[in-house]
Amino acid sequence: MRHVVIIGSGPAGLTAAIYAARANLSPLVVEGPRAGGLLTTTTEVENYPGFHHAIMGPDLMKDMRAQAERFGTELLACEVTAVDLKRSPLSVTVDGERRIETKTLIIASGASAIQLGIPGESRLMGHGVSTCATCDGYFFRGKELIVVGGGDSAMEEATFLTKFATRVSVVHRRDKLRASKIMQDRALKNEKISLIWNSVVQDILGETTVTGVRLRNVLTGKTSELSCAGVFVAIGHSPNTSLFKGQIEMDAKGYILTRNGTATNVPGVFAAGDVQDSRYRQAVTAAGSGCMAAMDAERYLENQG
Ligand code: NAP
Repeated sequence: MRHVVIIGSGPAGLTAAIYAARANLSPLVVEGPRAGGLLTTTTEVENYPGFHHAIMGPDLMKDMRAQAERFGTELLACEVTAVDLKRSPLSVTVDGERRIETKTLIIASGASAIQLGIPGESRLMGHGVSTCATCDGYFFRGKELIVVGGGDSAMEEATFLTKFATRVSVVHRRDKLRASKIMQDRALKNEKISLIWNSVVQDILGETTVTGVRLRNVLTGKTSELSCAGVFVAIGHSPNTSLFKGQIEMDAKGYILTRNGTATNVPGVFAAGDVQDSRYRQAVTAAGSGCMAAMDAERYLENQG
């Protein structure tokens, strides 16, 4: 029987662990399929306070993990495969076999990259199609690439990919970017990056690896082909909540609903980070809500005596 189990090891999960551990609650963190969360797939983090020269995403997460361990957090390199939130104590099953009982649960399972859902995308995933420039950019040295999206992620991915690629074309479905001004400016100033406005990728071409894309201009309806060796999809994320469907209140997009801080509608269950935040989605806000979740769990345990 645990006091606190935390699902997820991004900024929300690990900050919750640091606070819970320092409250002597001996938290257990189930790290999940991507230990360290989405920041491990990014490069320089320039807006996390305290690092005025920026810090690499994976380094930040390594340090947070070490900080959580230093105060007695136990980390399991496993995946949660089932939860039962209808019983008390709560139950969490890891890797399909080991069942853990806990008085409180902090859900910090984050979000995953959304895919376009177009022909060729799934078939060529890992063979030219990617959702992570940091992970796969290296394989495209001297090649021409496409990035899909108009947000900060698309700008960041495109800028990063110019380290390897000869040309990066950003395909955006509107004539205005969603990205923050600073990220836009950086990308637009880069002479290897060009924007293809008002266009969507209709089809990803290639038998065994990507050879190009078929584009459609959404204003004229005209289609055209563009050859490239890789397609990086950067169109946002959706919350990792399929495990909890039917057991906890969520909004229409699957984000967990919280109230009074990080409490959910299930007593003893709290949610932090991207899994409950469709609005801010920043590392620092995730960490802040992780802190809140640990304090909320501690208070809940105190009230339960
Ligand atoms: P986002 O802000 O939701 O942007 C998604 C982009 O993809 C939008 O431009 C959207 O177009 C486009 N899009 C969505 N669905 C599409 C589809 N089916 N086909 C074509 N295009 C599609 O997502 P994000 O860029 O991943 O950013 C998420 C959050 O993380 C934001 O809060 C962002 O500030 C933050 N972030 C920050 C940094 C940083 O500061 N270093 C880096 C990355 C992300 P529309 O514009 O037309 O909707």
